[in-house]
Amino acid sequence: ARAGCSVCFRRNVCSSPSRLQSMSAWVIDQYGTNGVLRYTEEMTVPTVNFANEVMIKVNAASLNPLDVSMRGGYGAKMLKLRRDPLSVMDSGSEFPLILGRDVSGVVVDCGSEVTHFNPGDEVWAAVPPWKQGSLAEFVTLTEYEVSHKPKLLSHIEAASIPYVANTALSALVNAGGLCRDSTSNKRVLITGGSGGVGTFAIQLLKAWGAHVTVTCSQNAEGLVRGLGADEVVDYAAGDAAEQLEMMDKFDVVLDNVGGDTEQWVMGLLKPWSGAKYVTLVTPLLFNTDSMGLLDGMFHAGFTLHNKAIQNVISSGVFYRWGFYAPDGPALDEICKLVDEGKILPVVEAQFPFTQVPQAFQKLEQGHARGKTVIKVA
Ligand code: NDP
Repeated sequence: ARAGCSVCFRRNVCSSPSRLQSMSAWVIDQYGTNGVLRYTEEMTVPTVNFANEVMIKVNAASLNPLDVSMRGGYGAKMLKLRRDPLSVMDSGSEFPLILGRDVSGVVVDCGSEVTHFNPGDEVWAAVPPWKQGSLAEFVTLTEYEVSHKPKLLSHIEAASIPYVANTALSALVNAGGLCRDSTSNKRVLITGGSGGVGTFAIQLLKAWGAHVTVTCSQNAEGLVRGLGADEVVDYAAGDAAEQLEMMDKFDVVLDNVGGDTEQWVMGLLKPWSGAKYVTLVTPLLFNTDSMGLLDGMFHAGFTLHNKAIQNVISSGVFYRWGFYAPDGPALDEICKLVDEGKILPVVEAQFPFTQVPQAFQKLEQGHARGKTVIKVA
């Protein structure tokens, strides 16, 4: 790394983006419905403040269900704690808050200890929910959270992948116990296979050699089969559970739907064989929002513990919660699969930066078939 400024840790002390005072962004100043989204050109530029940070000029961002939920205040208590554990922030407020979890863009500045990136590099990343998001001209992340973007993808295509990739990888590897070398011929069921996480997880699991069964609406069958799904069950047909019961049992279930699903899906797992149920739909943040941090975490931990014990005692099946985790090196691995043509971006809709509220409306309507992306620059 080149020598940097010992005061501010920036490597390119006089680079022009760092001298910019303000940038354009979509922000919220309070939680609520779509009306709280506000466009501004007066947002403070997130310059490099630590030696391990990378400042990115955003070309494209994408939306996830979490953005709609966070706009309404979901997770506010837990995320506030994560942003400011010692409550030392001047304002004590998270506002103005920038949403947007995925970014594809170009590095414009690096801290003095950054070793893997240089200004001018094209990168992609999933922005942790406790950081200012990517619906802005610039975003600043730690080096660990960033990865070089696949060369074959446009920024729009690249922005559709990082958050669902980091989520699916964390859920399947950390909670589901799968990895590239241990997944061959494993039978995996993905519920909600037509959405952002599902369309990515199908492709990842096929690249790892799994046999993949998917539940989705009938009109998504062509999409998920095109991505490699071996068996597809229409959950709206009324007999999804019956159809799935007639199949061989599964080694892993990745549940993107939650609710009642976990009750009928547990019986589809191979008993006493280390099979795992992993759900992405967990009550943790709902609990901390409604009960407060301590009670909410205690209640969530109690629920998880009880369900895990019940399932392991009754059928030898592991019950787990999956979570997004920031992980640039994991995106490096995904980049290789994209370069090999094993993972394709699934961009359902694209909006210009002027139409961020319309993109939120699209997401709120549900029935996603892949991802909704925003062209920022
Ligand atoms: P999306 O909104 O992109 O996709 C959801 C998909 O599920 C849609 O295609 C929808 O299509 C389909 N669907 C809805 N109901 C059912 C059903 N009963 N059976 C089968 N398919 C159904 O969401 P994501 O893929 O981005 O995320 C999935 C879930 O995981 C969300 O609840 C999200 O909040 C959560 N999540 C949790 C994370 C964590 O850290 N714990 C991280 C990321 C996501 P249609 O309605 O037309 O059938």
